[in-house]
Amino acid sequence: MPFQPLAQYPDHLALEEEILAWWDTEAIFGRLRARNAGGPIFSFMDGPITANNPMGAHHCWGRTLKDVFQRYKAMRGFDQRYQNGFDCQGLWVEVGVERSLGLNSKREIEEYGLAEFAQRCKERVAEYAEVITEQDRRLGRWMDWDNDYYTFSDTNIEYIWRFLKECHARGWLYKGHRSVEWCPRCGTSLSQHELINSYAELTHPSLYVRFPIKGREDESLVVWTTTPWTLPANVAAAVKPDAEYGLTKEGDWWAVERNPDATFVRRARGEELVGLEYEGPFDSLPAQQDVVHRVIPWDDVTLSEGTGIVHIAPGCGAEDFELSRVHELPVLMPINEAGRFYEEFGEFEGRSTEDVEKPIVVELERRGRLVEAGSIIHRYPICWRCATPLVFRIADDWLISADEIRQQMLDANATVDWTPDFYSKRMDDWLRNMGDWNISRRRYFGLPLPFYPCDACGRLTVIGSVDELRERATRGFDQLQELHRPWVDEVPISCECGAEIRRVQEVGDAWLDAGIVPFSTLGWQNPEWKEHGYATGAAAGLTGADLPDHAYWEKWYPAHWVSEMREQIRLWFYSQSFMSVTLTGQSPYMSVLTYEKLLDEHGREMHRSWGNSIDAAEALQNIGADVIRFMFCEQVPSQNLKFGYGPAGEIKRRLLTFWTSVKFFVDYANIQGFTPGGEAPGELQPLDRWLFERTEQLVAEMTDAYERFWTPSLVRSFDSFVDDLSNWYIRRSRRRFWNSDEVALWALRHALVRSLQTIAPVMPFLADYLWRSLRADDAAVSIFLEPWPEARERDEELLAEVAEVRRVVELGRQARGDAGLKLRQPLRRLVVQGAGSAQRHVEEIAEELRVKEVEFGVVEAIEVRVKPNLPLLGPKLGKELGSIRAALEAGDFDQLEGGGVRVNGCELTPEEVLVERSAREGWALAADDSLTVAVTTELDDELRLEGRVLDLIHQLNTMRKEAGLALTDRIRVTLPESHADLLRHESWIKEEVLATEIRTDGVAEPEIAKV
Ligand SMILES: [Zn+2]
Ligand SMILES: [Zn+2]
Repeated sequence: MPFQPLAQYPDHLALEEEILAWWDTEAIFGRLRARNAGGPIFSFMDGPITANNPMGAHHCWGRTLKDVFQRYKAMRGFDQRYQNGFDCQGLWVEVGVERSLGLNSKREIEEYGLAEFAQRCKERVAEYAEVITEQDRRLGRWMDWDNDYYTFSDTNIEYIWRFLKECHARGWLYKGHRSVEWCPRCGTSLSQHELINSYAELTHPSLYVRFPIKGREDESLVVWTTTPWTLPANVAAAVKPDAEYGLTKEGDWWAVERNPDATFVRRARGEELVGLEYEGPFDSLPAQQDVVHRVIPWDDVTLSEGTGIVHIAPGCGAEDFELSRVHELPVLMPINEAGRFYEEFGEFEGRSTEDVEKPIVVELERRGRLVEAGSIIHRYPICWRCATPLVFRIADDWLISADEIRQQMLDANATVDWTPDFYSKRMDDWLRNMGDWNISRRRYFGLPLPFYPCDACGRLTVIGSVDELRERATRGFDQLQELHRPWVDEVPISCECGAEIRRVQEVGDAWLDAGIVPFSTLGWQNPEWKEHGYATGAAAGLTGADLPDHAYWEKWYPAHWVSEMREQIRLWFYSQSFMSVTLTGQSPYMSVLTYEKLLDEHGREMHRSWGNSIDAAEALQNIGADVIRFMFCEQVPSQNLKFGYGPAGEIKRRLLTFWTSVKFFVDYANIQGFTPGGEAPGELQPLDRWLFERTEQLVAEMTDAYERFWTPSLVRSFDSFVDDLSNWYIRRSRRRFWNSDEVALWALRHALVRSLQTIAPVMPFLADYLWRSLRADDAAVSIFLEPWPEARERDEELLAEVAEVRRVVELGRQARGDAGLKLRQPLRRLVVQGAGSAQRHVEEIAEELRVKEVEFGVVEAIEVRVKPNLPLLGPKLGKELGSIRAALEAGDFDQLEGGGVRVNGCELTPEEVLVERSAREGWALAADDSLTVAVTTELDDELRLEGRVLDLIHQLNTMRKEAGLALTDRIRVTLPESHADLLRHESWIKEEVLATEIRTDGVAEPEIAKV
């Protein structure tokens, strides 16, 4: 069978679509899984993607890495799980649905109806799960698409309930009464891991406000605030006890350090002010009626900004709240869940924190309380979902104490292999600093926390399963269609004391949903395998996933490998580990590959509003999957990736070199009627032997890189191999291909096949497409059904030798280039200094660099000029300097080991002389660490004539190509009379351009005609 011909250039998009369809019709993935079934296992656990939007380009990075290593392991025969996961509930989805419905507050959601709202959330998840699946398939990801896990399934929720019950049994679960960061739009508090990196530069008012001191006429404390809305809740003012304060002429108290230009009429230490009472800024509000405002001491008062006197509102700040406990201050909470003022705040009632800014300023101004009003731009926390600026509120949240588990999680992390390895320390840092886990959210479509407090006896009941709920339910169980609000709220249970009790309203943090999957999807402690048993509750109808039995969990837990982006250290890596260490005492994963952020090609963050964002659909449509995958693999994962069409074009050009090499083989093999067989059809030439060894070197390097989960080495090794293959082996063997040398064809095909196998996981479409052009009839139809090419022993000596030859040639080209001598101009002499094994390749070097003679030895072409370093030598030598200088100038010195020189019997150190090295007249040179290569630049008539011949050959071959001639077509050449002297090399020209005849005539330019 002839080899399937290839086009001049690959059409990546078309060939990818073709291969995608072909994989389906041939059921390649299914056959691969069947082949590997029962083999050694490689356990991969997919971190769920939120099914709330189409994929962004950054999602393609992680999904590429996952697929690359799953494919590699599959080629090596590992049995694997290919379960994809979708994250389906919590704020992401809720906010998406709210936007699509035009709802903008919790009140509007409640008016819309929780059952309807849950329905819309499920529809949204179903819609985007489908979109994401399609994009993932297009990216080339091979997963078990009909059996995804969905974190909103009742089964997933039940497993979380069991975890929470366990936490309660250990006494870790508690309700916190704390000041928390709160999103007024989403109407919920946020957890520590949701706050990191969620900041914006915002402009806020900057106010200096007077608090008149009671009993001291015309004396006021001056405080500074950037959150005017907190002033109506002020109860105290804090001073630094050991700081110095001063009273200005105007009657204002400041920290002296904060107002250095003022003239102070009186001074006092902070502790002397403690206990003073003052008039609050809004004492007439009902909420302020019984408040006695006083000055309190606080060591943490900063003297680097503000006035050194801090306004304290315990209902509006974490530190303020802590101070209220120490000093028994009243806690006034001004705003409700939606960020609007409560009734007791009089004229501010119902207004938002922003709406009250202006009236507050006006009112303070009117009463002469305002010293100064301006604005400030500062970094301020915003909601990670909806970008609303956060406020502080006092909230009763449910938390899991991290105290007992912290050390166990650190111990578990010590067993994990992180790539890149320093991320292990990042995880440790997070674990050392993690606070208690705030698991409750005051929302709707999320994990219903199974907490049932009893007012009668004070007991907290935590339900651990649906069965338990059924047993304890007093009514409403029949209407429970799934474990979500509103249905689950309609099932009260009986407390042990006999009272009927209800579930708290809160739902859970979405990271509980994702963290439980190593248990819920693998059937931990499940006595019997349930077919489609995972597809429960909201997930019914979306997936056919089974709920496996405990033996299955034993087999696949913990995961050998997981891979997600770095921010998952405080998210999924953390929540999974927290839950796993709680339930089993060990880490849920053995190794992790993590990576940084995706930026645009100029290194800016991608934002839709900036017009520089590329989503996955656009990238796949315009760039193609293989190129995208190659780009992600090339990236060092600990650095941000610059993604865009520019870098993609660059990769396309590089991939073209490999494509062209395959095409070169296919074209000549078809001309020759070459049939691939097992053994070489003759004796291998030295260059073939080298290519054979070089290929084994590639296989070894690639295997090692895959085993280390280090993709940058994959790309680097492959690129370097392709360069050797194309720019050394093929170029140096052209003549053999023209002469239909079957051994060369055999050697080239061998190298192409094996190298293609090693890169196949990175660019699966191109790999299978080219495989169809290269495969032998008895080989597997898909490259992925072939076994992995195991590396053989290598002849390291030969590899080092040729690598050195290539360096010599590279330096020789550089020297020629620097001297402006094009490669088609033959030169007389080349001298190589520092080469060892390259000496056996004199002819290749001479041919490559177009030189007549090659010598190895000291390069006399280098001229060394030495001058005295005057500032050092002047004082040292004094009068002798003159004669030494003259001797150096005359070249009358010896160079010493280590860089010094001996001159006039005097030894000078390297510091005492300035050494310049340059090429002598008539030479060009280039050098690297250990090699120096020099060529003579002088041309004689013979060299000039040969240069012209080579120019002509190049010209004629270009004309052949442009005329569309086949590689084997013979031609007749007509030259202008002016070229007559070139005919001294007639047979050389004929051979190089496949000419049967060359003559001269009155033409102006050379002409060719097909014979
Ligand atoms: Zn929000
Ligand atoms: Zn009770």
